This record gives sequence, structure tokens and C-alpha cells, in this order.
Amino acid sequence: MQSNITSCTRYVGDKVSCRYCNENCIKHGMFSGKQRFRCGSCKRTFIKSYTYNACKPDTSKWIKNLIKEGCGIRSIGRLLKISVTTVLKRILIIAKNIHKPIMIIGKRYQVDEMRTFYKSKTRLLWIVYALRSDTKQIADFAVGARTIKTLQRVIDTLLLSGAEKVYTDKLHLYKYIIPCEIHQSKIYNTNHIERKNLTLRTHLKRLSRRTICYSKSIAVLVACLKIYFWS
Ligand SMILES: [Zn+2]
Repeated sequence: MQSNITSCTRYVGDKVSCRYCNENCIKHGMFSGKQRFRCGSCKRTFIKSYTYNACKPDTSKWIKNLIKEGCGIRSIGRLLKISVTTVLKRILIIAKNIHKPIMIIGKRYQVDEMRTFYKSKTRLLWIVYALRSDTKQIADFAVGARTIKTLQRVIDTLLLSGAEKVYTDKLHLYKYIIPCEIHQSKIYNTNHIERKNLTLRTHLKRLSRRTICYSKSIAVLVACLKIYFWS
């Protein structure tokens, strides 16, 4: 990489590696009184020690870990010494890069709905999600009112993957959207997903019952669920 550097005066004496791709970097002016560096390979710039904690490279990783450990947005801000707005923005960015897991043909799933609120305690919202019976992984989820439209979004994914059996509770809407030969709504069939509801309520602050913690925006709720389920 040294041969690519055209100006010897800009060459960094003690080699500085790029924080994104580990290639050698050159000096690239000053930023707030601190030396700025530019990577010759990926052309991105950075400084060694940032004053604002949100710019540090492992902040996103910490936000992700703290969400999963039952910390709310404001507590994450206080712990990492960054602003609430930055935490919210960063959650959306992290979730954008997380994708649904690949579905495998012919598996058994448990489907359930969980009640939560958004904006105020009078506005109800339901999280519908499907748990794969053998691995206990979340196959898909949808957030919305407790209607066929919301349930359909999850059930369609399961039907497209050729689910062998779909276990649900006795909510009457399911029988209209799941073919009767693969649908079962007997007692004890949804034990694992009911237990998962409790885990979710323990690990995600915004789902805790009988507290003042609830979601103010559906987008952030969906992002937090994505982070919890699939990262
Ligand atoms: Zn680089």
C-alpha cells in the first residue's frame, strides 16, 4: 500500500490502520484540533479519539447489547453518554441491515400475539410472531392491530415455506387464514411461544408490563424486535 502514496510529506510515520478496512492511512487535515486520517483503499476519513462517544466504532455494538439486556432508550443514552436522538437513529440504522432468517420447508411453527401499546396506554398494538418448534427461532413477526391483515402477514410467510403444522391459540381469526389440515389450536401446543412472551417482556424494556415503559413509535418497536430476534 505504501507505493500508492504519492506525497511523502502526507505519509504517517507511525502507521495508522483504517478503522473500517485495516489498510494504511494518510493524514487528511485537522478536525476540531485533532488529526484526521484518510484511508487510501476505502477513501473514508476518521480521527483516532472522538470527543462524542457516538462516533466511537463499538457504540452500535453496545446499543445492540443493551437493548437485549432490558435497557430503555434513555438508560442506554445515560450509560453510553450519548443523546437519546442518536440512540433512536442508530437503532433504525442497525435494524435496516438485519434480514429475516432463511425459511426451511416442512417445519412446525407456533404462532401467538402479544399485547403492547404505542404513543399512549390507550392505544393498543399487537405483536404477532411465529416460533419454529424445533430450533425456537423466530421465523417472522408483524406489528399492528389484532386483525386478519396483521395475522396474514405472518401466516403467509409460513404457508409459502410449506409449513407442516401451525399451532395457535383459540383466536377465531386463525381458522379463516390457515388451512384446516395444517392448523391445530389445542391446549399445550403453544407452551414454548407463551414462555417466549415472558422472555420478551423481561428482556425488552418497552414490553415490560405495569411500567411507564412503552413504545412511542412503531418503527422503533419493529427495529428493536428485529435486533432482539435476529442479531
Ligand atoms: Zn479503509
